[in-house]
Order: sequence, then structure tokens, then C-alpha cells
Amino acid sequence: MNKREAKQHIDRLRKEINKHNYHYYVLNQPLIGDYEYDQLYKKLQDLENKYPDLISPESPTQRIGGQPLAGFKTIEHSVRMLSLDNTYSEQEVRDFDTRVRKQLGKRVVYEVTLKVDGVAVALHYRDSVFKLGATRGDGVHGDDITQNLRTIRSLPLRMLSKDRELANIEVRGEVFLSKKAFTDLNRQREKQGMPLFANPRNAAAGTLKLLDAREVAHRGLDMFIHTVPRQPGPHYHSHYDTLVALGTNGFKIIPHIMQCKSLDEVFQYIDKWRNAREALEYAVDGLVIKVDEFKERERLGYTIKSPRWAIAYKYPARQAVTQLQSISVQVGRTGRVTPVANLDPVLLSGTTVAHATLHNEDEIRRKDIRLNDYVIIEKGGEIIPKVVGVVKERRTGKEKKFKFPKKCPVCGEGLVRLPEEADWRCVNKSCPAQIKGAILHFASRQAMDIHGLGYSLVNTLVDSGIVKSLDEVYRLTAAVLADQERMGTKSAQNLIASIEKSKEKPFEKVLYGLGIPNIGMNASHVLVESFGSIDKISQAKHEDFSRISGIGDIIAQSIIDYFKSKKNRQVIENLRRIGLNFVHKKSRTTLFLAGKTLVFTGELESMKRADAQAEVRKHGGQPASAVSKQTDLLVCGANPGSKYNKAKKLGVRIISEKEFLKMLKKGGKA
Ligand SMILES: [Zn+2]
Repeated sequence: MNKREAKQHIDRLRKEINKHNYHYYVLNQPLIGDYEYDQLYKKLQDLENKYPDLISPESPTQRIGGQPLAGFKTIEHSVRMLSLDNTYSEQEVRDFDTRVRKQLGKRVVYEVTLKVDGVAVALHYRDSVFKLGATRGDGVHGDDITQNLRTIRSLPLRMLSKDRELANIEVRGEVFLSKKAFTDLNRQREKQGMPLFANPRNAAAGTLKLLDAREVAHRGLDMFIHTVPRQPGPHYHSHYDTLVALGTNGFKIIPHIMQCKSLDEVFQYIDKWRNAREALEYAVDGLVIKVDEFKERERLGYTIKSPRWAIAYKYPARQAVTQLQSISVQVGRTGRVTPVANLDPVLLSGTTVAHATLHNEDEIRRKDIRLNDYVIIEKGGEIIPKVVGVVKERRTGKEKKFKFPKKCPVCGEGLVRLPEEADWRCVNKSCPAQIKGAILHFASRQAMDIHGLGYSLVNTLVDSGIVKSLDEVYRLTAAVLADQERMGTKSAQNLIASIEKSKEKPFEKVLYGLGIPNIGMNASHVLVESFGSIDKISQAKHEDFSRISGIGDIIAQSIIDYFKSKKNRQVIENLRRIGLNFVHKKSRTTLFLAGKTLVFTGELESMKRADAQAEVRKHGGQPASAVSKQTDLLVCGANPGSKYNKAKKLGVRIISEKEFLKMLKKGGKA
């Protein structure tokens, strides 16, 4: 067999194996037995071993490859990954339908699917080959988890057939663990004395965060594709049709998908799955209702948080009964005081629950919740379950009423409750509980992303008076840190480096990190885009905010109140002097290099090579050091080396530094 014949043979085998993978992992209808399959696979492996330069990343033998990663790259989503509005109320589903029909001025067709409780991911294909996969992250930026996603057998590394409109598509889906895979995984962890996962979704999320793809491959992850964020081409005007086409093209699309021509049909679907979902192999917590036509979606548009053309309906939560042992009171970073129920641990929808929120003093009184009561707890969409009522029939007379504390349990100052508010607050700006909360929020991943500034260290630093406000985080030194208990020199240095690096975070993250009440990531994004600088925001009046869509009165008042405080203004001034970004730098990165491999040769004039490589990564590409058949582009500086000749020989596209810069500027075409 010569090389040309070998290549043909390899191509045939790959096609054959891909087809069988699809029938086995996606359709669940294998066409051949395991033995025959193994023979095909082995034949391919042997041939590839003999002709290693014919190995390509989309070969079925290459699913699990590569070395463990040091960390995940961050990528920017080409279309924001928003979460959907969700509701437990059938009335709100009706309201949604009314709104949609009113805005479109006609009847609509909905696409309805089950809502699988998993982890959302985005997959990018180039020329029908899987190139890049990412987590949702904060909706704007996600982690590049391509290597981990490749291990999921139902994910096609190459599409089965060529469809020009689908070849360069982005699809989104849900990675999940089946109920069985979850039980098996926990059983195995129990044997090894490792902590158990609370539920299948946590287990899937934890698995995707592993840096070693070989470990991921053993966990049994699976995935469903449910979303195509952009109309792929003129042929596909219905989202449903697009998914069906993807389904025949190798993808495992979300099962039981349906087009509903009326709201009645939607409710039939809701009823059908209310109990039937328990028999499915995967966890389903509701369903998703979307307007089907891409064009109509475009007309409906988005709110600041979610698309106007979709809503998730969640089945009402499950409940459990357990005994209330005590009530403790927590102080949040905004000074809000929340009573928390400490419970006799009980299993609820697959998770052990030991704490539940009681919201506030009025709620406790209204529900007449007493210590030692048997209480009904419920888990809704929130992470923390809540106490919804008391089983009064089980009272024995030993129950005691709870007295809400008058003083802050942390700093001892008197608590304050404003007439129009339900919550008690600690208004002591130097209250350690608030400082701790503020620092943890500031250091969190979505904000300044400071690694190593965790709960116990922040506790120590605040309690010992070393850090009294956000800006003092930047005064920490490795020497001071190394004095702390359990802190080695190495981790102290790492933390200092991470603090230093956080100074580069864009204004949007800094603003969010300040922890102004009611300013979440979305609001922060909008404020930064609209005002551009902290000075403009701090001077803005009510009418300035009211002009901005997505910024309501509550947010506006919050900001105005925040800047009234001299202490807050001082902290910002200090942070500004330290060098944090308080001005918006407009740089919209796009992922136009997604899946592309670039190599540099020669001396670049305008930037260091490391910076050029960072630019490539920022736009989704992969810088490599050597030219091979996998190279998409060679960027050629002055005095190029041997890579130039090799690229020429292999027919790799070569561009100059100037063209490279132009490409970065234009976000695509050189
Ligand atoms: Zn306090």
C-alpha cells in the first residue's frame, strides 16, 4: 500500500467509524457488535501509526489526547450566552405568549423542548470539523474547554455529511451526567474516600473543570444540542428544522423536541412530562419554549438579561419535611441580615439539605416558625432551599418562638430597619462581616479574579486588622502574607502575583467588583458601555440613568447612594491611584481566529512575539511554534527562518506583519 492508498483507506475507515459512533452514541441503535467495531478501530490505529503524518485532530482515534492543561484560556463569545427568563407559573407562560403575539402581530409557532439540568456550552465548527468549545462563563467570556468536550462520544468531531450552510456553525447545548453515571461516579468516590457530588449537574460542572482530559473521559459525560444562536443560512429559517438537520448530521439533539402551533399544545406538552420525566435517564427540571422562526426572534430581540423570544417553564419544586434545630443570623456584604434555618439534614431532590433561608423577621412571624418545629422545605431554582411552612400537627409544646437579635452578631452594633424595608441591616461600614463579604466579592472570578484570596484567609486578614477596605488588598506583601498561618512562601508569592495581575482587569469588572448593591454583571456592562468612566457614573443624575434601557430606578438610586458616601469615594480614589481601570477601553474582540493555528517567523517590528501570540489567543486562535500541515497561517516578520520555506512547501498561507495587524484591526479579512 502506498501513501496515497493509505490515505484513502484511512478516510474510509474514519467515515465508517464515525457512522457507527453516531448509531451507537447518538441514536442508541448500533449497527454492528463491539467486536467488529473494535476491529475497525484497530485497523485505523495501525494505519495511523504507520503513517503518523496522516493523523488529524478530528480522527476518531484522537478524542482523548494531549497533556493536562495548566489552566483554561478565556475566550469571548461571538453571541452573548444569556440565560433564559424562567418561571414556575403557568400564568406567566400565558403572559409570555400574549406579549410575543402582540409584538409580532400574528400567531407564532413555538419550539418546545425538555430542559435538561446540565452545564451550558458553546461549540464552534469550521469546515464541518469541531474546533472550539467553551463554557458559558459570565455570558461574555467563557473558558476554552475544547479538550474536555472532545472526550464526549456523542459530540461529532466531524459532521457526517457536507452541508454548506451548517459547515461553519456555532451550536449550543447542555453537558450532563445521566442519573446512572452520576450514581456510579459517587459510589466510586465514596470507595476512594473522596467528597461526593451533590447532584448530577454539580458533577458535570466539576468534571468539565478538570484539567486532565483523560480523567474527564472516564466520567461518562453526555450532551444534547438545543440551540443554534444564529441563522445558519437562507435555507434554514426555522430553528426546529435546523436542529433536525443537525440531528441527521451527527449531533445528538435534545430529545422529544416539538413544534407547537398553539399555547394549548404547549400546555399539553407540559402536562405530558410533569411525571413522565422521572422515568428519563437524565434530570429534567422543566421545559423551554422558544419562538421557532429566526426572523421572528430577531424582531423580538433581547432585554438586558435574556431573549424576549424564549421562556423556561420549571416544574414546581419538590418538598421535604424536617426538624428546625436552630436559627442563626448571617450578615451579607451589603449589611443585610438574613436568618438561616439549621435543619436536621434531609434528602431533597437528590441533595442533602442542612440549611434553608428564612428570608427575614416578618417571614418568620407570618409563617409562625418556631424552634424545634417540623418545617416544610422546598427547593426551587435557587441554590439555597427555603422554609415554606410549618407542620403544626406535629407540635409537642416544646417549640419556642425565635427572638430576632437587636445587635449585629458580628460587630455588636445596633441593627437598623428602615420603615419601607423588610430586612434588618448592620449599617456599620467597618463591620468585619461586610468587609469580608466585600473583599470576597471583589476577588471573585467574575470580578477581579484574584486566586488564593479565599474565605479563611480573608477572615484572618480582616480579623487581624491587616485589611480594612478593598484598596488595602493591594498593600499586601508576600512577607505579610507568609506570616499568616498555613500560608507558604510560594502561595504567598502566587497570591501577590495574582493581585498584581488583577490591576489589568477592564473597568467593567472593576465596577462590578466594587459591590454596589443591585449592580450585577449585566448592569455593570451596560453602565460601562453607556457612561465610559467612573467620573461620569458618579456624577450622573436620575434623569441620566432613566435614558438607559436596562437601568431602572432601583439601580439608579443604588449608585447615587453609593457615591454619597465619603468612604466609598475615598476607596475608589485609592484604587485609581493604585492603577485600576476606571475608564472604558473600547476593544471589541471577535473570535475570527477560532480553531486556526498560527505560526510566527522572523522579527516582528510592532510588537513582541509573545504579545502577538496573546493577540492570537484572544481571538480564539492557537499559536504554534512549528509549521505543519495543521498550520493555517504563517506570519512573516523580517529575516524569516526555515519556517518560511516549509510553509511554502506545504502550501500554508503566508502573510506579512502588516497584513496581520490589518487583520487584527478589521477582525477578520486581511
Ligand atoms: Zn455588623
